[in-house]
Parts: sequence; C-alpha cells; structure tokens
Amino acid sequence: MISRKSLAALAILTAVALAMVVAVAAGAHAQAGAPAANPPAQNSGMPNLAQSAAAMKEPFPPFHIIGNINYVGSKGISCYLITTPAGEILLDTGYPDMAEQIEGNIQKLGYKLSDVKIIIDSHSHIDHAGGIAAVKSATGAKLMSVAEDAVYLENGGHNDVLFGDRNPFPAVKVDRILHDGESITLGGVTLTPHLTPGHTPGNTTWTMVTEDKGKSYNVVFWVFVSVFPNASLKGTPSYPNMGADMAKTMKVIPTIKCDVFLGSNSSFFNLEQKHDALMKGADPNPFIDPQGCKEFVERAQASYQQALQRDQAAATTAPVK
Ligand SMILES: [Zn+2]
Repeated sequence: MISRKSLAALAILTAVALAMVVAVAAGAHAQAGAPAANPPAQNSGMPNLAQSAAAMKEPFPPFHIIGNINYVGSKGISCYLITTPAGEILLDTGYPDMAEQIEGNIQKLGYKLSDVKIIIDSHSHIDHAGGIAAVKSATGAKLMSVAEDAVYLENGGHNDVLFGDRNPFPAVKVDRILHDGESITLGGVTLTPHLTPGHTPGNTTWTMVTEDKGKSYNVVFWVFVSVFPNASLKGTPSYPNMGADMAKTMKVIPTIKCDVFLGSNSSFFNLEQKHDALMKGADPNPFIDPQGCKEFVERAQASYQQALQRDQAAATTAPVK
C-alpha cells in the first residue's frame, strides 16, 4: 500500500527529473502529434521545464468520447476508461501525483473506483504509468502488461532505456503478463496489445472495436512511435536492439486498422479541438478520424527515415580512429 503522502514526497523529490522527461517528451510528441512545435532548447531553464510538466498535468473535464470509451486524463496526458457490463478497464494513469485527479474523473462520470477491474498501460514511463500503484490500490484492479514493459513497472522505472534511473515511480506488481497480440476480454469487450517498441522495449499500441449509433469502429490508442528529433537508432548499452525494434514498429504501424484516432498524449490527436467540437454537437463524431491516424503514421515513418539518414551521415563523416 502506498500512501498519498509518500507519493507526494516522491513527486517533489523527482520534480526536476519529471520536468526533464516531460520537456523531452513534449517536444518529440509535438513532432509526432498534430501541431508543429519546436523541440525545447537543450539549455531550457528549469522554470520552463517545470511549467511544461505542470501544463501536461492540468485538469481536463472527463467526457464520453464514443461507444464505450471515456476520457479521464489530463490536458496533456491521456487516460481512458473503457466500460463493460462486467466492470471497467483503465488505460494509463498519468504521473504519480495525478492519481487523485484520474480517480476523481472516473467518479465524476458516475463510475465507482471499485468497478475498475483491469488496468493496462501504454508504456512504462512515469508520465503514463507513474500513478498505477496508487490507482491499483484505490480500485483493487488487476494490472496487465506486456512482458517487455512489466519488468519496468515492477522495478519502478529503474534502468530505463532512455532515462536510466532518473525518473523512478512507485513500483507495482503486474498480475498478468501479456505478449504481443494476446488479447484481454472483460464483459465481452476485447482489447489487443500491439508491441510497437523503440521508445521503450514494451511500448504498446492498444486496439479495440467499439459500437456507436449502430456502427462498428476500429479504435486505436497510439503510443509514441516516432524517433526523438535528434536521436540515433544505434541503441544504447541498455537497449542494443532499439534500431531493430524501431524497424519492426515501422512495419507494424501501417497495418493497424484505425477509424477512431486516440493516443497516449493529447497532442497526438488534437484532444481539445475535437472535444470542443463534440461538445457543440459535431456529427459525425470528430474522434472518427482515419485521415488523422494515417498522417500520424506517416509522421512517425518520416521521423524514422530522418533518423536513418542522420545515422548514415554520422557514419560517413565520422573521423577514422
Ligand atoms: Zn515515454
């Protein structure tokens, strides 16, 4: 059991690290997502980094997206409540200190915390999985994750392939280990994890089918599948297979059928703009956006090609030792 106090203390202790990861992620995610934005300067001042972390956590009104899918995340970090006749499934929880915000959003929509039966994650980074331990404790839900991610959830984000030990979060036990394509079902609702590694070894894009107004839609919850703006595909000592994993991801992402375009970060799919349109009664539902999905995949593919070219250029200009 992890107390709110210890979570808050952890959040403060790692505030700098938090801000760093958000700043890096925000830049890359902005590139991967819709609006063009410049990546943060390497020497950005800490107040700005802290501000971007705070901006990512800013509350957002929970709302019904489509079919049996609800938004319960913050302005920047997306979390989803998928409802079934046998209870609810929660995808991601945000930062450790966002747990109460997410729990409050679930309750504001009229659902009981004790009805959340399963928690799943997009990937094992503090800004998406940091609150899982707290929310799991508050709901009693079972945590299910792919094997490649589970190790980092269970060690609290240590030895991360990008961040090393800089962004720890409360460790949490994974109750069921999944593998690529191994679906989970609750109350007749099935979700499938697609391993799209590179950002982390267990980076997971989830898919499901939802029914809305008599029609069926393929829903995709994209994880970050691009390459960071200045990153290499050569990998690191802790992730020597990164390049091969990214190559695999590039093969997988164009094959994922997508009608409803969602993702782990709101910047991927223009959350605010689509939410506002939906609240004004837009029909068809603006989250039905296969074109947006296609463009998201194309941006990821372009970032991969640019990384390949960077690596090739670096190899040809490297001095002979
Ligand atoms: Zn991440």
